[in-house]
Amino acid sequence: MPASKKMIETPVYLDYNATTPCHPDVVAAMLPFFTKWYGNAASNNHSYGWQAAEGVTIAREQVAALINARPEEIVFTSGATEAINLAIKGVYEAYAFKGNHIITVATEHRAVLDTCAHLEKKGAVVTYLPVQADGLINTEDLKACITPATILIAVLFANNETGVVQDIKAIGKIAKENEVLFFCDAVQAAGKIRTDVLDLGIDLLAMSAHKIYGPKGVGALYVRRKDPRVKLIAQLDGGGHEKGLRSGTLNVPAIAGMGKACAIAVKEMHVAAERMRLLRNRLETLLLEGLKDCVVNGNTVNRLPHVSNISFKGVDGGRLLNGLVAYTAVSSGSACTSALPKPSHVLLAMGVEEDLAKASLRFSVGWFTSAEEINFVAEKTIALVKQLRGE
Ligand code: PLP
Repeated sequence: MPASKKMIETPVYLDYNATTPCHPDVVAAMLPFFTKWYGNAASNNHSYGWQAAEGVTIAREQVAALINARPEEIVFTSGATEAINLAIKGVYEAYAFKGNHIITVATEHRAVLDTCAHLEKKGAVVTYLPVQADGLINTEDLKACITPATILIAVLFANNETGVVQDIKAIGKIAKENEVLFFCDAVQAAGKIRTDVLDLGIDLLAMSAHKIYGPKGVGALYVRRKDPRVKLIAQLDGGGHEKGLRSGTLNVPAIAGMGKACAIAVKEMHVAAERMRLLRNRLETLLLEGLKDCVVNGNTVNRLPHVSNISFKGVDGGRLLNGLVAYTAVSSGSACTSALPKPSHVLLAMGVEEDLAKASLRFSVGWFTSAEEINFVAEKTIALVKQLRGE
C-alpha cells in the first residue's frame, strides 16, 4: 500500500504557526495548580501561596533559560500581544525625554503594527522599513533612518507567514552602536531555533506559550536589566505584580505550563527542527514537482525549518482553502488576519502581486507531523490545484 493510503487522521493539522497542541508533559505540569496547589502566588502568608509562588519561580527560570536571560528579567503576561504592547508603549512612555521615533518593519505581525499605529496618534513618528523580495530587510536602510530621536527598533525575529528569519545579530549590533533599544517579537523563533538575547544584543523580547506546545493565554516579555537597564512604564494599574510591570493575579497553571514547554524546547528543539526540516522540504518537493507555476515565498535559506509559504498561480486561494478543508488545516497567511478577505500585507510588502498573494497557502509542520501526513496533503493539494486550474 502506498504510504499516502495509510490510515491517517483528517484533516491533517499543518497550521503549527497559528497554534500548537499542548505537549502531554505540559498538561501534566499544569494540572496540580488547578486543584491542589491553587493558592494565589501573591499570598505570602500561607503554604498554598508559597506552593503557587514556587511554581512561578521554577517557570521563570525555565523561560529565562530558553533565551539565555536571567529569571528576574522575565515578566509574565497574557500572551505575546500583551508583551508587545507593554514593550513598545512602555518604552515610548519611559523614553519620551529622549525622543519619539520608532523604527519597525512593514512585515511585522499586526500586534506590532497596530501598536505603532496607536502611538502615531499620540505623537510618535514611526518608520516602516521595506523588505526585499526575499522578505529580509536591508540593514543599510536601517542604519540610514536612525536619528537622534530614535528610541526603539522593533523587528520580528521570524515571520509568522513566510518563516523568513531576519539577521537579528546584525540588527542588535546596529542598535547597540547607536544606543537605541532593540525589541524583538520572537514568538515564532523562541523554542524553535536558537534565541540567545545576550549573543544577539536584544533588549526586549516577546514570547508566547501556545506556539511552543504550551497553553494559550500566557506569554512573557524579557526586559534587559543590565547593559543597559531598560526602563518601562507599566500599561496596567493594580496590585503591582511582576515588579510593578504587569499588575494582575498570576495565571499560575498557565505559567507552570509555559515553563515546562520552554524546558522541553531546550532539550528537544534542535532534533525536532531537523526532523521538521525534512518533512517541510519533502512537502515542497512533492508540490513543486507535481505542479507547474508554484512559487515558494521568502528567503529559503534564512527560514524557519518547519514553514513553507507557497503561491499557486491561477488559483483562487479561498476556493483552494475551502476545497482542502476536509483534508488539511492550513492557513492562507496569518491566522489572525485570515478572516479578512485581503491579500497578506507580508507578501504584498515583498512585492508579490495581489493575485498571487491571494493564491498562497502557509503550511507549517510540527513535532507531531508524520511523513504519511505530508504525502497525503501533497497528493490532495496537487489534485485540487489541477482541478481548479482545469488541467
Ligand atoms: N507575534 C507573532 C509573530 C505571532 O505569530 C503571534 C500570534 O499569531 C503574535 C505575535 C501574538 O501572540 P499571542 O497569540 O500570544 O497574543
